Amino acid sequence: MGLFSRKSDSPQDSFSAPLPETRAPSKPLVGDLPCSAKGCQNSTGAACSYVDRRNRHCKTAWCPEHQFLVNGQCYCRRHANTVDAVGNQEHTTYGFAMPDLANRSPSLVRWVANDISDRVEKLLERYRTPGEQYHRERVHAVRGVDGGVRWEATWQLFDHTGSRVRVSIEVREATPTTLSARVGQLVVYSEVPPWILHREHAEDVDPDTDVRERDMFYEMMLKAIDEHLTDSDEPY
Ligand SMILES: [Zn+2]
Ligand SMILES: [Zn+2]
Repeated sequence: MGLFSRKSDSPQDSFSAPLPETRAPSKPLVGDLPCSAKGCQNSTGAACSYVDRRNRHCKTAWCPEHQFLVNGQCYCRRHANTVDAVGNQEHTTYGFAMPDLANRSPSLVRWVANDISDRVEKLLERYRTPGEQYHRERVHAVRGVDGGVRWEATWQLFDHTGSRVRVSIEVREATPTTLSARVGQLVVYSEVPPWILHREHAEDVDPDTDVRERDMFYEMMLKAIDEHLTDSDEPY
């Protein structure tokens, strides 16, 4: 299946969570290109504005009904997520310009982070001591000691002395289908999500199964985080 096909609303390359900050609220961009959305007959598509670090342009176009706007620019869904995740900070944190066209990692982390944030917050609430603040950090790139880049989203509890508990989820560019969770620096969970396994095996899954499997995947991940927080006497 094509990179940008919209076969279903399964999360392989799309996002069931609403994206109010990227969805065009009022002023859509009207172009004269055929819309890339599957089954859409509109010829009012504006080109996706995404340009990657190799100066390659995304070749999709989206009509007002199917486009996503970030800072007034039209994007496909993946690149809206990528741009929103990376923002304009990537020149300093990532070390080079926008991720490759086909790079799903920032988009995947952003989507999962949004999906599980309430549960992580609820979990951390149990470990929060009086006076501690809760902080969620948006998706950002981190270059590891091996030179590899990972995309991560973090949740922290901190007080005036600094961060005490740090939980993160991440996708490494070297293993872009694996989602991992860390407590502090320690990786406590690392699996390929079920919807990605289905995509790799070209399996169609009904929406109910998709939701159930996704939920189980998140529960396993949160359980691993919780168990580590419970067992460890060390600062995280
Ligand atoms: Zn369309
Ligand atoms: Zn695009």
